[in-house]
Amino acid sequence: MQAPPEAHDNSSEPKLDDGCALTGCDKAEELQRCSACKIFFYCTREHQVKDRPKHKSTCTGIRKARDNLEKQRQALIDQPDFRNDNPFENHVGRFWKLRETRPFMMALSKLAQAFQNSNYRPALEAELEVCMELLRLCPGDNMGVRETVPPLFIRLNKDQECYDFVKWWATTAKEGDYDWSTHDRYLDIKNADIFEPCNFINEKSLCGSLSLHACMMILKIKVVVDLIKLRATQNQIEEMSAKFCSETGPPPEELFLGIKKEKCRSSATLARPELFLEPNLTPKINALRKQIDSLSESIDRQNKHYIPALLGPDMELGPITMFQMGSPEEMRMALQHTWYAWMESFGTLDYLVLQRAGELDEHFDPDADMKDSY
Ligand SMILES: [Zn+2]
Ligand SMILES: [Zn+2]
Repeated sequence: MQAPPEAHDNSSEPKLDDGCALTGCDKAEELQRCSACKIFFYCTREHQVKDRPKHKSTCTGIRKARDNLEKQRQALIDQPDFRNDNPFENHVGRFWKLRETRPFMMALSKLAQAFQNSNYRPALEAELEVCMELLRLCPGDNMGVRETVPPLFIRLNKDQECYDFVKWWATTAKEGDYDWSTHDRYLDIKNADIFEPCNFINEKSLCGSLSLHACMMILKIKVVVDLIKLRATQNQIEEMSAKFCSETGPPPEELFLGIKKEKCRSSATLARPELFLEPNLTPKINALRKQIDSLSESIDRQNKHYIPALLGPDMELGPITMFQMGSPEEMRMALQHTWYAWMESFGTLDYLVLQRAGELDEHFDPDADMKDSY
């Protein structure tokens, strides 16, 4: 696995590719969809042809996976047992447990894999959609799909959805009498408070899922980085107002809303207008910092290799199928899931480096080029 080229190299903010899929072309309007994979877009036929050598294997992979999925869907419906008992209508929630559904589930999982290794937004959106479908059909998640969902939410900046998803797995799903065969309470946590203490997330509450655990920390860091930037902007605005507006009185807060919003990256911060009018963000920042400290301690307890490897210079990543709790293999698996989510959440690794060194107060400047601190 390769890091996106920007990571660690400079301070430019890594972003998902959008618009025309040809590298270097930033056209985002009047795009046409590749008719074979139906996922990648191009501004002109010429750019599509130019990108073909690079796009070809992904494109073929997606098309084949989709064809195979259709074949398996038909084969499942045609099974004698399901002639009058359509599983897609009558057995949602029991897929995988019903043996006959397994080839279809495998085909769906293959389709999700065909979208991977891309930082093209429509491909990530398609992957997320397929993963959610796998979970809808089999909420008990025998295939371990839930590990891949939170990093996708984070990469697509669906931070609130991510928080709700992880919280659900750490709370409702853990209840002893939770009934996996019905959908009554499936993923029913909506708009939970991302600022709340998250004692419900620890090394025991996530059924051993290190990726979900790590994603909770990415989310909290994304939000605290936003708040630290907001506070700095707030201070600058106050200084300027005192300097230039001493006679006319302070300008209305609303004037600065746009400037403040531009500083923020997390959709969870942007969705809370009250934060932009809050005169003193320090209590909120301090509360989040404590929560992040305790998350980092519980992650260390779950797997002492994860954070050091994340911040270390070299990472060995490769295919892993089996691992023990707390092992280096578990760390590598979780790193594969979460690496891009960290890299694309600007400022989160800088925060973590300084938090580990106990130097946040002295050195954390979310706008600065932090490459020297590695
Ligand atoms: Zn183009
Ligand atoms: Zn294509």
